[in-house]
Amino acid sequence: MSIVVVGSVAFDSLKTPYGTRDKILGGAATHFSLSASYFTDVRVVAVVGEDFTAEEESVMTRRGVDTRGIQHAKGKTFFWAGEYGDNVNEAKTLDTQLNVFEKFDPQVPADYMDSEYLFLANIHPALQVKVRDSMPGVKLVGGDTMNLWINIERENLGEMLKRVDVLLINAGEAKMLSGDGSLPRAANKVLDLGPKALVIKHGEYGATIFFRDGEFAGGHHPFRAPALPLDEVRDPTGAGDSFAGGFMGYIASQGEVTRRVLKHAMFYGSVMGSFAVERFGTERMQSLTREEIDERFNAFRELTHLD
Ligand code: AMP
Repeated sequence: MSIVVVGSVAFDSLKTPYGTRDKILGGAATHFSLSASYFTDVRVVAVVGEDFTAEEESVMTRRGVDTRGIQHAKGKTFFWAGEYGDNVNEAKTLDTQLNVFEKFDPQVPADYMDSEYLFLANIHPALQVKVRDSMPGVKLVGGDTMNLWINIERENLGEMLKRVDVLLINAGEAKMLSGDGSLPRAANKVLDLGPKALVIKHGEYGATIFFRDGEFAGGHHPFRAPALPLDEVRDPTGAGDSFAGGFMGYIASQGEVTRRVLKHAMFYGSVMGSFAVERFGTERMQSLTREEIDERFNAFRELTHLD
């Protein structure tokens, strides 16, 4: 099974209580791809500029990620600068330079068209809609968005929501999108907008999946996966995308989308998110082993299961 992801490939400058990094490899599609690559074949659709080198691309290809869908455009690669204070759940954006991203017209290569899974990482919702509609054969579509689009692109976002099966957003975004401060009510209102399932991420407190009534073999209850209590969160950047990579990658590796698979995917998402924050940027996602992933999956089991 394989998954296509469309989103940002970026250079990030980061400041956290553990240090700073200048112009390191980042971007939602990058974090997602590296994480999902531990579970399934990954194909990326993105754009980079002339400052993006073969060395940066090889971070993805070394993990077996197919980068033929990355367009190389004239100009500079998307740049994002962010800072985290003591609250690791909240990134403060210091600078966003769209650069080649401003004119990004995503094209899914013909060779990617047999993929059954698609993830629409956080980009303009009109582009997410375009990519989704260009792949009518996909079996499951996951998607992300951000407060910016919730604020200024409601109409396009509405179209995007009608086209995703599983939406993954954080708690603040769910409340903003629904206009409701109660999380369970907010979840139901978001589900009314289109998705069959909604994953709400609570940062260091884990994530909850809510199901639309009657979907994925019925049942009414949401399901929550914890986050691992970690001594040191060095850099939270990419935690959400790494969660999404583990979540979608695991689903793609199973070949069927049942409630049981979705619940396990919540744990694999949490596992990958917990690794991502241990080091800056993509560092930890580059060098994991399957044994480490399985070991941590068992640590999550220990965290929540009674004897
Ligand atoms: P996350 O921490 O998982 O929410 O995602 C962080 C990544 O998103 C960083 O590596 C950034 O390069 C990227 N990013 C930040 N702002 C934007 C944006 N407006 N559009 C697309 N990607 C972004």
